[in-house]
Amino acid sequence: MERWLETIWYGAPPPPWWLRPFSGVFSLATALREGAYRSGWLAAVQLPRPVIVVGNISVGGTGKTPLVIWLVRELRERGFTPGVVLRGYGGSGTGPRVVGPDSRVDEIGDEAALLRDRCGAPVAVGADRVAAARLLMAEGADLIVADDGLQHLRLGRQAEVAVIDGQRGFGNGWRLPAGPLRERPARLERVSAVVQNGAGPSHWPQALPMRLAGTTLLSVDASGRRLELERLRGTRVHALAAIGNPERFFATLRAAGLDCEEHGFPDHYALQSQDICFEDALPVLMTEKDAVKCRRFAKAQHWYLPVTAAFEPADAQALLRRIFMDKRLLDILACPLCKGPLVYDRDQLLLVCRADRLAFPIRDGVPVMLQEEARILESSDPLLVR
Ligand SMILES: [Zn+2]
Repeated sequence: MERWLETIWYGAPPPPWWLRPFSGVFSLATALREGAYRSGWLAAVQLPRPVIVVGNISVGGTGKTPLVIWLVRELRERGFTPGVVLRGYGGSGTGPRVVGPDSRVDEIGDEAALLRDRCGAPVAVGADRVAAARLLMAEGADLIVADDGLQHLRLGRQAEVAVIDGQRGFGNGWRLPAGPLRERPARLERVSAVVQNGAGPSHWPQALPMRLAGTTLLSVDASGRRLELERLRGTRVHALAAIGNPERFFATLRAAGLDCEEHGFPDHYALQSQDICFEDALPVLMTEKDAVKCRRFAKAQHWYLPVTAAFEPADAQALLRRIFMDKRLLDILACPLCKGPLVYDRDQLLLVCRADRLAFPIRDGVPVMLQEEARILESSDPLLVR
Protein backbone atom coordinates (compact mmCIF):
# COMPACT_ATOMS: atom_id res chain seq x y z
CA MET A 1 0.00 0.00 0.00
CA GLU A 2 2.72 2.46 1.06
CA ARG A 3 4.88 1.59 -1.96
CA TRP A 4 1.92 1.92 -4.29
CA LEU A 5 1.06 5.36 -2.90
CA GLU A 6 4.67 6.45 -3.19
CA THR A 7 4.77 5.64 -6.91
CA ILE A 8 1.75 7.94 -7.29
CA TRP A 9 3.14 10.68 -5.04
CA TYR A 10 6.59 10.84 -6.58
CA GLY A 11 5.86 9.49 -10.07
CA ALA A 12 5.39 11.57 -13.19
CA PRO A 13 1.76 10.79 -14.15
CA PRO A 14 -1.00 12.69 -12.31
CA PRO A 15 -2.79 10.80 -9.50
CA PRO A 16 -5.81 8.68 -10.55
CA TRP A 17 -9.02 10.71 -10.78
CA TRP A 18 -10.85 8.74 -8.11
CA LEU A 19 -8.19 9.48 -5.48
CA ARG A 20 -8.36 13.25 -5.91
CA PRO A 21 -11.69 13.92 -4.12
CA PHE A 22 -10.21 12.39 -0.95
CA SER A 23 -7.49 15.07 -1.08
CA GLY A 24 -10.27 17.67 -1.14
CA VAL A 25 -11.82 16.17 1.98
CA PHE A 26 -8.44 16.06 3.70
CA SER A 27 -7.70 19.69 2.74
CA LEU A 28 -11.07 20.82 4.07
CA ALA A 29 -10.58 19.01 7.37
CA THR A 30 -7.11 20.56 7.82
CA ALA A 31 -8.36 24.02 6.86
CA LEU A 32 -11.22 23.81 9.35
CA ARG A 33 -8.90 22.75 12.12
CA GLU A 34 -6.38 25.47 11.37
CA GLY A 35 -9.19 28.01 11.13
CA ALA A 36 -10.47 26.90 14.53
CA TYR A 37 -7.06 27.59 16.10
CA ARG A 38 -6.66 30.92 14.31
CA SER A 39 -10.08 32.19 15.31
CA GLY A 40 -9.67 31.02 18.89
CA TRP A 41 -12.32 28.29 18.82
CA LEU A 42 -9.58 25.88 19.73
CA ALA A 43 -6.92 27.25 22.06
CA ALA A 44 -3.24 26.51 21.61
CA VAL A 45 -1.46 25.93 24.91
CA GLN A 46 1.24 28.55 25.44
CA LEU A 47 3.96 27.11 27.65
CA PRO A 48 5.96 29.44 29.91
CA ARG A 49 9.17 28.72 27.97
CA PRO A 50 9.96 29.01 24.24
CA VAL A 51 8.96 26.24 21.85
CA ILE A 52 10.73 25.74 18.51
CA VAL A 53 9.04 23.31 16.13
CA VAL A 54 11.09 21.51 13.47
CA GLY A 55 8.73 19.84 11.01
CA ASN A 56 7.67 19.44 7.44
CA ILE A 57 4.60 19.83 5.26
CA SER A 58 4.97 16.44 3.58
CA VAL A 59 4.82 12.85 4.73
CA GLY A 60 7.96 10.81 5.28
CA GLY A 61 11.52 11.57 6.21
CA THR A 62 13.02 14.86 5.15
CA GLY A 63 16.04 14.97 7.44
CA LYS A 64 14.27 16.54 10.43
CA THR A 65 16.00 14.44 13.06
CA PRO A 66 19.60 15.34 12.07
CA LEU A 67 18.49 18.98 12.00
CA VAL A 68 17.04 18.66 15.53
CA ILE A 69 20.34 17.14 16.72
CA TRP A 70 22.24 20.02 15.09
CA LEU A 71 19.94 22.65 16.58
CA VAL A 72 20.11 21.18 20.09
CA ARG A 73 23.91 21.19 19.93
CA GLU A 74 24.01 24.82 18.74
CA LEU A 75 21.63 25.87 21.53
CA ARG A 76 23.61 24.03 24.17
CA GLU A 77 26.83 25.70 22.97
CA ARG A 78 25.09 29.03 23.63
CA GLY A 79 24.17 28.10 27.19
CA PHE A 80 20.59 26.93 26.68
CA THR A 81 19.22 23.78 28.33
CA PRO A 82 16.93 22.43 25.61
CA GLY A 83 14.65 19.42 25.86
CA VAL A 84 13.27 17.53 22.85
CA VAL A 85 9.67 16.37 22.48
CA LEU A 86 8.29 14.08 19.81
CA ARG A 87 5.31 11.89 19.30
CA GLY A 88 7.39 8.73 19.31
CA TYR A 89 6.22 7.13 16.06
CA GLY A 90 6.82 3.42 15.82
CA GLY A 91 6.73 2.92 19.57
CA SER A 92 4.02 0.93 21.30
CA GLY A 93 3.92 2.86 24.57
CA THR A 94 1.18 5.29 25.51
CA GLY A 95 1.13 8.38 27.66
CA PRO A 96 3.78 11.10 27.87
CA ARG A 97 7.08 10.14 29.45
CA VAL A 98 10.72 11.10 29.61
CA VAL A 99 12.98 8.73 27.70
CA GLY A 100 15.53 7.08 29.97
CA PRO A 101 18.80 5.32 29.18
CA ASP A 102 17.02 1.97 29.50
CA SER A 103 13.80 2.83 27.65
CA ARG A 104 13.05 0.15 25.07
CA VAL A 105 13.06 1.07 21.38
CA ASP A 106 9.83 -0.85 20.77
CA GLU A 107 8.12 1.34 23.37
CA ILE A 108 9.51 4.80 22.59
CA GLY A 109 10.20 4.49 18.84
CA ASP A 110 13.40 4.55 16.78
CA GLU A 111 13.62 8.34 16.44
CA ALA A 112 13.30 8.91 20.19
CA ALA A 113 16.06 6.36 20.83
CA LEU A 114 18.30 8.02 18.26
CA LEU A 115 17.69 11.48 19.73
CA ARG A 116 18.41 10.22 23.25
CA ASP A 117 21.70 8.71 22.07
CA ARG A 118 22.83 11.70 20.02
CA CYS A 119 21.39 14.93 21.47
CA GLY A 120 22.91 15.12 24.91
CA ALA A 121 19.57 16.62 25.97
CA PRO A 122 16.54 15.10 27.71
CA VAL A 123 13.92 13.65 25.36
CA ALA A 124 10.23 13.06 26.06
CA VAL A 125 7.66 11.24 23.94
CA GLY A 126 3.89 11.39 23.89
CA ALA A 127 0.94 11.94 21.59
CA ASP A 128 0.16 14.87 23.89
CA ARG A 129 3.22 16.98 23.12
CA VAL A 130 2.15 19.68 25.59
CA ALA A 131 2.24 17.19 28.48
CA ALA A 132 5.57 15.79 27.24
CA ALA A 133 7.06 19.31 27.10
CA ARG A 134 5.86 20.01 30.65
CA LEU A 135 7.70 16.91 31.88
CA LEU A 136 10.92 18.26 30.37
CA MET A 137 10.44 21.71 31.87
CA ALA A 138 9.91 20.12 35.28
CA GLU A 139 13.33 18.53 34.77
CA GLY A 140 14.93 21.91 34.07
CA ALA A 141 14.61 22.40 30.29
CA ASP A 142 14.45 26.14 29.56
CA LEU A 143 13.55 25.72 25.88
CA ILE A 144 11.65 23.03 23.99
CA VAL A 145 12.53 21.72 20.53
CA ALA A 146 9.68 19.72 18.98
CA ASP A 147 10.75 17.10 16.43
CA ASP A 148 7.82 17.17 14.03
CA GLY A 149 4.51 18.73 14.96
CA LEU A 150 4.16 21.58 12.47
CA GLN A 151 0.51 20.46 12.29
CA HIS A 152 0.17 19.77 16.06
CA LEU A 153 -1.20 23.28 16.59
CA ARG A 154 -2.27 22.66 20.17
CA LEU A 155 1.38 23.09 21.15
CA GLY A 156 1.86 26.88 21.02
CA ARG A 157 5.20 27.87 19.49
CA GLN A 158 7.39 30.94 18.97
CA ALA A 159 9.40 29.60 16.01
CA GLU A 160 8.87 27.06 13.24
CA VAL A 161 11.47 25.51 10.96
CA ALA A 162 10.24 23.49 7.96
CA VAL A 163 12.48 20.97 6.21
CA ILE A 164 12.08 20.04 2.53
CA ASP A 165 13.67 16.95 0.99
CA GLY A 166 15.74 18.34 -1.90
CA GLN A 167 15.33 15.18 -3.93
CA ARG A 168 11.59 14.66 -3.49
CA GLY A 169 10.42 18.24 -3.00
CA PHE A 170 6.62 18.42 -2.89
CA GLY A 171 6.21 15.25 -4.97
CA ASN A 172 3.30 15.57 -7.39
CA GLY A 173 2.08 18.65 -5.49
CA TRP A 174 -1.15 17.02 -4.29
CA ARG A 175 -2.43 16.87 -0.74
CA LEU A 176 -2.93 13.53 1.04
CA PRO A 177 -3.83 10.90 -0.05
CA ALA A 178 -3.36 11.71 -3.76
CA GLY A 179 -0.01 13.33 -2.96
CA PRO A 180 2.50 13.51 -0.08
CA LEU A 181 1.52 16.96 1.21
CA ARG A 182 -0.07 17.46 4.62
CA GLU A 183 -0.41 21.19 3.96
CA ARG A 184 -0.21 23.55 0.99
CA PRO A 185 3.29 24.86 0.14
CA ALA A 186 1.94 28.36 0.93
CA ARG A 187 2.18 27.31 4.61
CA LEU A 188 5.93 27.84 4.28
CA GLU A 189 5.33 31.60 3.99
CA ARG A 190 4.35 31.60 7.67
CA VAL A 191 7.29 29.65 9.15
CA SER A 192 10.42 31.26 10.61
CA ALA A 193 12.81 29.40 8.30
CA VAL A 194 12.78 26.81 5.52
CA VAL A 195 15.67 24.35 5.19
CA GLN A 196 16.27 22.25 2.09
CA ASN A 197 18.01 18.96 2.81
CA GLY A 198 20.32 17.78 0.06
CA ALA A 199 20.86 18.63 -3.57
CA GLY A 200 17.98 19.03 -5.98
CA PRO A 201 16.10 21.80 -7.72
CA SER A 202 15.30 24.75 -5.45
CA HIS A 203 11.83 24.09 -4.03
CA TRP A 204 11.49 27.30 -2.03
CA PRO A 205 13.11 30.67 -2.77
CA GLN A 206 14.63 31.48 0.65
CA ALA A 207 15.40 27.89 1.69
CA LEU A 208 18.70 27.46 3.54
CA PRO A 209 20.70 24.54 2.08
CA MET A 210 21.62 21.74 4.48
CA ARG A 211 23.49 18.54 3.72
CA LEU A 212 23.95 15.33 5.63
CA ALA A 213 27.57 14.37 6.08
CA GLY A 214 28.90 11.01 7.24
CA THR A 215 32.15 9.28 6.38
CA THR A 216 32.78 6.80 9.20
CA LEU A 217 30.85 3.57 9.76
CA LEU A 218 30.34 2.31 13.30
CA SER A 219 29.62 -1.28 14.31
CA VAL A 220 25.98 -1.90 15.24
CA ASP A 221 27.01 -4.25 18.06
CA ALA A 222 28.52 -2.76 21.21
CA SER A 223 32.14 -3.41 20.19
CA GLY A 224 32.75 0.22 19.16
CA ARG A 225 34.59 -0.71 15.95
CA ARG A 226 34.97 1.97 13.26
CA LEU A 227 35.43 1.66 9.51
CA GLU A 228 36.00 4.47 7.05
CA LEU A 229 33.33 4.35 4.33
CA GLU A 230 36.08 5.12 1.82
CA ARG A 231 37.64 1.71 2.46
CA LEU A 232 34.55 -0.03 1.06
CA ARG A 233 34.80 1.74 -2.31
CA GLY A 234 34.10 -0.80 -5.06
CA THR A 235 32.90 -3.39 -2.54
CA ARG A 236 29.58 -5.17 -2.83
CA VAL A 237 27.42 -4.59 0.27
CA HIS A 238 23.86 -5.03 1.49
CA ALA A 239 22.31 -1.59 2.00
CA LEU A 240 19.32 -1.55 4.31
CA ALA A 241 17.00 1.31 5.29
CA ALA A 242 13.66 1.57 7.08
CA ILE A 243 13.29 5.33 6.79
CA GLY A 244 10.95 7.74 4.98
CA ASN A 245 13.10 7.85 1.87
CA PRO A 246 15.40 4.78 1.65
CA GLU A 247 16.63 5.93 -1.75
CA ARG A 248 18.46 8.84 -0.11
CA PHE A 249 20.56 6.42 1.96
CA PHE A 250 21.26 4.18 -1.04
CA ALA A 251 22.28 7.21 -3.12
CA THR A 252 24.73 8.28 -0.39
CA LEU A 253 26.39 4.85 -0.46
CA ARG A 254 26.47 4.71 -4.27
CA ALA A 255 28.03 8.19 -4.33
CA ALA A 256 30.78 6.83 -2.05
CA GLY A 257 31.51 4.18 -4.70
CA LEU A 258 29.83 1.19 -3.02
CA ASP A 259 28.11 -1.53 -5.01
CA CYS A 260 24.78 -1.83 -3.18
CA GLU A 261 22.24 -4.59 -3.02
CA GLU A 262 19.32 -2.48 -1.80
CA HIS A 263 16.77 -3.50 0.84
CA GLY A 264 14.16 -0.81 1.50
CA PHE A 265 11.59 -1.13 4.31
CA PRO A 266 8.70 1.13 5.39
CA ASP A 267 9.51 3.97 7.78
CA HIS A 268 9.74 2.82 11.44
CA TYR A 269 9.55 -0.85 10.39
CA ALA A 270 10.52 -3.07 13.34
CA LEU A 271 13.58 -4.81 11.92
CA GLN A 272 14.15 -8.38 13.08
CA SER A 273 17.20 -10.59 12.94
CA GLN A 274 16.04 -12.32 9.74
CA ASP A 275 15.71 -8.92 7.98
CA ILE A 276 19.36 -8.05 8.43
CA CYS A 277 21.06 -11.45 8.10
CA PHE A 278 21.83 -12.76 4.62
CA GLU A 279 23.22 -16.02 3.20
CA ASP A 280 26.52 -14.39 2.27
CA ALA A 281 29.15 -12.68 4.44
CA LEU A 282 28.97 -9.27 2.71
CA PRO A 283 28.99 -6.20 4.95
CA VAL A 284 25.46 -5.01 5.86
CA LEU A 285 25.14 -1.21 6.05
CA MET A 286 22.17 0.55 7.62
CA THR A 287 21.11 3.99 8.84
CA GLU A 288 21.58 5.12 12.41
CA LYS A 289 17.82 5.02 12.98
CA ASP A 290 17.79 1.35 11.99
CA ALA A 291 20.83 0.52 14.12
CA VAL A 292 19.05 1.43 17.38
CA LYS A 293 16.58 -1.38 16.61
CA CYS A 294 19.21 -4.01 15.80
CA ARG A 295 21.74 -3.72 18.62
CA ARG A 296 20.51 -6.83 20.43
CA PHE A 297 20.98 -9.20 17.49
CA ALA A 298 23.71 -7.49 15.44
CA LYS A 299 26.71 -9.45 14.25
CA ALA A 300 30.23 -8.49 13.21
CA GLN A 301 29.24 -7.65 9.59
CA HIS A 302 26.60 -5.07 10.63
CA TRP A 303 27.55 -1.40 10.32
CA TYR A 304 25.69 1.90 10.41
CA LEU A 305 26.49 5.31 9.04
CA PRO A 306 25.89 8.18 11.49
CA VAL A 307 25.12 11.39 9.62
CA THR A 308 25.39 14.96 10.81
CA ALA A 309 23.56 17.97 9.46
CA ALA A 310 25.95 20.54 8.00
CA PHE A 311 25.44 24.15 6.90
CA GLU A 312 27.68 26.82 5.46
CA PRO A 313 28.59 29.12 8.40
CA ALA A 314 26.55 32.04 7.03
CA ASP A 315 23.50 29.80 6.55
CA ALA A 316 23.84 28.37 10.07
CA GLN A 317 23.88 31.88 11.52
CA ALA A 318 20.93 32.91 9.33
CA LEU A 319 18.91 29.92 10.53
CA LEU A 320 19.53 30.70 14.21
CA ARG A 321 18.77 34.40 13.61
CA ARG A 322 15.44 33.54 11.98
CA ILE A 323 14.53 31.22 14.87
CA PHE A 324 15.08 34.03 17.39
CA MET A 325 13.49 36.68 15.17
CA ASP A 326 10.16 36.70 17.05
CA LYS A 327 10.75 38.94 20.06
CA ARG A 328 8.00 37.14 21.98
CA LEU A 329 10.47 34.30 22.23
CA LEU A 330 13.03 36.56 23.93
CA ASP A 331 10.37 37.73 26.40
CA ILE A 332 9.90 34.24 27.85
CA LEU A 333 13.52 33.09 28.06
CA ALA A 334 14.75 32.02 31.48
CA CYS A 335 18.03 32.82 33.20
CA PRO A 336 20.36 29.83 32.76
CA LEU A 337 21.61 30.21 36.36
CA CYS A 338 18.57 30.87 38.54
CA LYS A 339 15.92 29.82 35.97
CA GLY A 340 14.10 33.04 36.84
CA PRO A 341 12.71 35.58 34.35
CA LEU A 342 14.88 37.75 32.12
CA VAL A 343 14.15 41.28 31.02
CA TYR A 344 14.73 41.88 27.34
CA ASP A 345 16.30 45.27 26.69
CA ARG A 346 15.53 46.18 23.10
CA ASP A 347 17.88 49.16 22.93
CA GLN A 348 21.07 47.53 24.15
CA LEU A 349 20.18 44.03 22.89
CA LEU A 350 20.64 42.45 26.30
CA LEU A 351 18.78 39.94 28.42
CA VAL A 352 18.99 40.96 32.05
CA CYS A 353 18.64 38.75 35.12
CA ARG A 354 17.91 41.12 37.99
CA ALA A 355 18.35 38.43 40.64
CA ASP A 356 21.86 37.52 39.47
CA ARG A 357 22.71 41.05 38.21
CA LEU A 358 23.84 39.68 34.87
CA ALA A 359 23.30 40.96 31.34
CA PHE A 360 23.46 38.29 28.61
CA PRO A 361 24.30 39.58 25.12
CA ILE A 362 22.32 39.03 21.92
CA ARG A 363 24.89 38.65 19.15
CA ASP A 364 23.87 38.82 15.52
CA GLY A 365 20.28 38.24 16.60
CA VAL A 366 21.02 35.17 18.73
CA PRO A 367 21.07 35.22 22.56
CA VAL A 368 24.23 33.95 24.25
CA MET A 369 23.24 32.53 27.63
CA LEU A 370 26.73 31.76 28.93
CA GLN A 371 27.79 33.09 32.32
CA GLU A 372 31.31 33.84 31.08
CA GLU A 373 29.88 35.99 28.28
CA ALA A 374 27.50 37.93 30.53
CA ARG A 375 28.26 41.38 31.90
CA ILE A 376 28.14 41.76 35.68
CA LEU A 377 25.97 44.73 36.62
CA GLU A 378 26.57 47.19 39.45
CA SER A 379 23.62 47.47 41.83
CA SER A 380 23.16 51.06 40.59
CA ASP A 381 23.05 50.03 36.92
CA PRO A 382 20.03 51.55 35.21
CA LEU A 383 19.34 48.13 33.61
CA LEU A 384 18.37 46.86 37.06
CA VAL A 385 15.90 49.58 37.92
CA ARG A 386 14.29 50.39 34.60
ZN1 LIG B 1 19.36 34.52 37.12
